[in-house]
Amino acid sequence: MITVQEADHIISAQQWRHGMTVVPLLQAYGRVLAETIVADRDIPPYHRVAMDGIAIRWCDYDNGCRSFYISGTVGAGATTTAPPAENTCLEIMTGAALPPGTDTVIPYEQVIINNGIAEIKQNSVTKGQNIHTKGRDKKSGDLLIPSGTKIGPSEISVAAAVGKTQLLVVQHPRIAIFSSGNELVDVGATPLPYQIRRSNSYAIHTCLQEIGIHAEMGHLPDDLAMIKEMLQKAIEDFDVIVLSGGISMGKYDFIPQALAEISVKCLFHKVKQRPGKPIWFGTFGQNGVVFALPGNPVSTFLCLIRYTMPWLETAMKLPPKQVRFALLDGDWAFEPALQYFLPVRVKQDKMGTIWASPLKTNGSGDFASLLEGDGFLELPAEQSTFKKGDAFRIWLYR
Ligand code: AMP
Ligand code: MG
Repeated sequence: MITVQEADHIISAQQWRHGMTVVPLLQAYGRVLAETIVADRDIPPYHRVAMDGIAIRWCDYDNGCRSFYISGTVGAGATTTAPPAENTCLEIMTGAALPPGTDTVIPYEQVIINNGIAEIKQNSVTKGQNIHTKGRDKKSGDLLIPSGTKIGPSEISVAAAVGKTQLLVVQHPRIAIFSSGNELVDVGATPLPYQIRRSNSYAIHTCLQEIGIHAEMGHLPDDLAMIKEMLQKAIEDFDVIVLSGGISMGKYDFIPQALAEISVKCLFHKVKQRPGKPIWFGTFGQNGVVFALPGNPVSTFLCLIRYTMPWLETAMKLPPKQVRFALLDGDWAFEPALQYFLPVRVKQDKMGTIWASPLKTNGSGDFASLLEGDGFLELPAEQSTFKKGDAFRIWLYR
């Protein structure tokens, strides 16, 4: 049996050779940019007036003129060609292009307008004030957003400003999720007394949704021939397959055998950890990977957030999540030589330190306990006693 660290190495060595795809601008949110975005023209593209007020020729002001005859009004989106004559001004609005001949804008707050004359009340007018000059922020052709950036609202806004109606982004893997087991029924069904509703696939689906992936869901009965047939089809149609259940020591745990028989290569089966010891990982074809997670819901969930999600985030070129540590809020003991993922609730103290309080749960089948917790504290296998205040890596799901 391998260690958690060895499992990490094996999984992270499976690099995803992703493609690229073009999506409409608004659908690019949350994805990773696969092109560079450059300024299609100067930003701002013209001398943009930055205040509502009057536009004057600085030389008139400098020559002592304080009362300007208003020769017209220019709104945003309007153009003017004729420069104002000596000692005249134009009323001008924010967002308008600075009229030719003028070079200084005085806000309405600093003028008194009477009978078509604007009188300046302000003594300290500087040449060029209140003008956001052409190309001041960026020059035409400047790099605005490098390839590899995760697209958020500010990237969408800049892409829109430079006329990108669609963006080239990193392609998502096609993912299929399968639950397994004859005891499991649909969420909408009324289970018989010895049946339960399948919930794991929903947990997995939701975690994937959080990174923008919409996975397909299926269910495998405990029947070797059926499992082989369905998984054979899946490895033809999908890049990543996430399974839950059917990988332990039970008589009907056919999944490892089925995967081997359809030539999915096992890279490991079982990791020195609790929960989630039976986890199975393998590869198929050029680029495909299979995460077969144990069926107990807490094990499925832990293995998903501990192994599958980080691999997927890397595969999709998403920025790496911050590695976080928390201080154990109470003494703890765990004897077996297994990495223990302790369910915890967290709180942050005034200094920003995260404290993790152990939760009392009924083990890996106790899926309702996930509602009480915020994450799992990863306690190393080499240790069996853990002291209050010791720091450990934490895997938060909230
Ligand atoms: P297995 O790994 O198939 O032996 O399943 C271990 C336990 O997890 C059993 O009690 C199953 O009923 C339960 N289980 C497996 N898959 C699911 C699922 N999709 N949703 C809820 N419980 C499950
Ligand atoms: Mg089962």
